[in-house]
Amino acid sequence: RGTGLSAQSVPEWKMMHGKAGKYGHRSSLSIQQQRQSLPIFRLKNELIKAVHENQVLVVIGETGSGKTTQVTQYLAEEGYTTRGKIACTQPRRVAAESVAKRVAEEFGCRLGEEVGYSIRFDDHTGPETVIKYMTDGMLLREILVDKDLSSYSVVMLDEAHERTIYTDILFGLLKHLIRRRTDLRLIVTSATLDAEKFSGYFFDCNIFTIPGRTFPVEILHTKQPESDYMDAALITVLQIHLTEPEGDILLFLTGQEEIEHACECLHERMKAFGDDIPELMICPVYSALPTEMQSKIFEPAPAGKRKVVVATNIAEASITIDGIYYVVDPGFAKLNVYNPKLGLDSLVITPISQASAKQRAGRAGRTGPGKCYRLYTESAYRNEMPPTTTPEIQRVNLGWMVLNMKAMGINDLLSFDFMDPPASQALLSAMKQLYSLGALDEEGLLTKIGRKMAEFPQEPPLSKMLLASVDLGCSDEILTIIAMIQTGNIFYRPREKQAQADRKRSNFFQPEGDHITLLTVYEAWKAKGFSGPWCFENFIQVTCLRRAQDVRKQLLEIMDKYKLDVVSSGNDSTKIGKALTAGFFFHTARKDPKGGYRTLADNQQVYIHPSSALFHQQPEWVIYHEIVMTTKEYMREVTAVEPRWLVELAPRFYRSVDPMKVSKRKRQERIEPLYDRHSEPNSWRLSKRRW
Ligand code: ADP
Ligand code: MG
Repeated sequence: RGTGLSAQSVPEWKMMHGKAGKYGHRSSLSIQQQRQSLPIFRLKNELIKAVHENQVLVVIGETGSGKTTQVTQYLAEEGYTTRGKIACTQPRRVAAESVAKRVAEEFGCRLGEEVGYSIRFDDHTGPETVIKYMTDGMLLREILVDKDLSSYSVVMLDEAHERTIYTDILFGLLKHLIRRRTDLRLIVTSATLDAEKFSGYFFDCNIFTIPGRTFPVEILHTKQPESDYMDAALITVLQIHLTEPEGDILLFLTGQEEIEHACECLHERMKAFGDDIPELMICPVYSALPTEMQSKIFEPAPAGKRKVVVATNIAEASITIDGIYYVVDPGFAKLNVYNPKLGLDSLVITPISQASAKQRAGRAGRTGPGKCYRLYTESAYRNEMPPTTTPEIQRVNLGWMVLNMKAMGINDLLSFDFMDPPASQALLSAMKQLYSLGALDEEGLLTKIGRKMAEFPQEPPLSKMLLASVDLGCSDEILTIIAMIQTGNIFYRPREKQAQADRKRSNFFQPEGDHITLLTVYEAWKAKGFSGPWCFENFIQVTCLRRAQDVRKQLLEIMDKYKLDVVSSGNDSTKIGKALTAGFFFHTARKDPKGGYRTLADNQQVYIHPSSALFHQQPEWVIYHEIVMTTKEYMREVTAVEPRWLVELAPRFYRSVDPMKVSKRKRQERIEPLYDRHSEPNSWRLSKRRW
């Protein structure tokens, strides 16, 4: 102790093993020297030979050994790109982008020439591109269009152990495809733990191991559980900075809001220390971070300074930052989890698995012997954390997946060769959702609307909303709303200016609700010529608006391609409300006389988020975009609706109760979901035959 920190308790540390770490010196090698110093470099020829002789190969090796950046280049140098492109998939957008930049630099080309990347709503590839980094979701979209992936000679499913839903479907499709396309090479990289399982799935293929080059990491657990992991994390970071030898720090937090908060606190506390202590470079890393700032994390701290990287799970394995000697691990991550009660996915802060904890600790031992500070007890690690994380396919809503598999002509989902099949109940509930949206017919086959919905790279309710808006005559507005809703939190709320920021935000509020408020913000920005300074004055994240602009453009291209009209509703907000209802009728809630709201689908208690334009109004009926669970279950992006729209726009989901017996006014109020009362159509039974 004795660091002059706040009165809050400083975590007490217990040593697990190992000796105190010594630090090395930072490298200042040329880019080619750096490439040659990677562990994979010595195995270059063996690796090429292995790929040559094995159609499928599982590759394992420590993070940072050079798998992602080098394998593609080695194969390109070896001539694999004369017959087609090399695809390398990443579970995360930021990773695809950042790795592609790095590889373009190593390869000696501009991004988008020989080396490019493609992520949803952002394509940086060109006619010359031969090495293509992409999200697994994008490759899945390509395989939807071209079953044979005929433009590729090699597919590398990178970070496959992350087990995103997209990777899992690609597993099944590629397993099938390689039997047809015997010239296609498939490389699957994985964490050591899963290698045998992956190999078993892919016809017992060979496993190529890149021997690690790691240093011991001393692991410390707290003696007591921490009640406030954020505070404990900040104190630990400062303690390391003030008392430990040179070496950068990596702190894992769960998401953008936490990371921004942590960075602000660190800035404040460092300021309070004055000039007597060495400077601390504070670098946030999360997926919505503007690109300019992303490259900053890779820059070494100048001599005499220390860098602290505050990152989401992305720094666990997807990106490698050199020079980290200290890892602070609070033991949590945000996972997308399907909540059967609410009937939707939500991001939930969840304890990580032991495998993740080990991986996080390992980040401290890449440049020299390091230390990992776990903000949980050793007993929690052993007894409470699951050994591995459940694959996404067994956690999330499968709507998008089912829709796209149907569009690929895969009707028999139950006998699809999944590595770990989803629960049949989850498949059924996704199909019910798609049926209510009108994307599947009573037989469970794709409808015309369903086929159109599959063209859009977004969740089915959003696509339905867009298609409905074409018929309703408000697609111009809905395009903007959809783009805005997908770009994260656009309102900036710095700690020291919260009141001012809130005032500015409330200037945009619209009586209909948050969707139209978002539209108003975009329109105002557009009227100001897409001005950056205007955003700054209004506490709006300009990068989010730019992304929304991009997303809008991409969606517009798809609309044009399928000749879907883009029409404006003028000032008719009813049309917009109806379009929202057509997509998000599942997410309806009605005011509860006892306080808050109740969801219509499941009678769950929910509340309007305090940041909502409708927080003070509390209208009777609302539709929300999502639920976030913090202190309460809050609805985010809320709009007031008329109950009769539900019956009108979602006849497969709602009906009025006893329409003949009650008054018209009462009738409006007696609307309830069809399900649970009526069973689904007969053909919906989960019979092996159909599904
Ligand atoms: P792996 O996939 O085996 O985890 P990578 O190929 O991603 O390893 O990384 C190998 C090395 O490349 C890293 O140790 C790092 O030094 C360097 N590197 C990767 N991405 C970047 C980047 N965007 N900027 C600078 N260096 C990078
Ligand atoms: Mg990698």
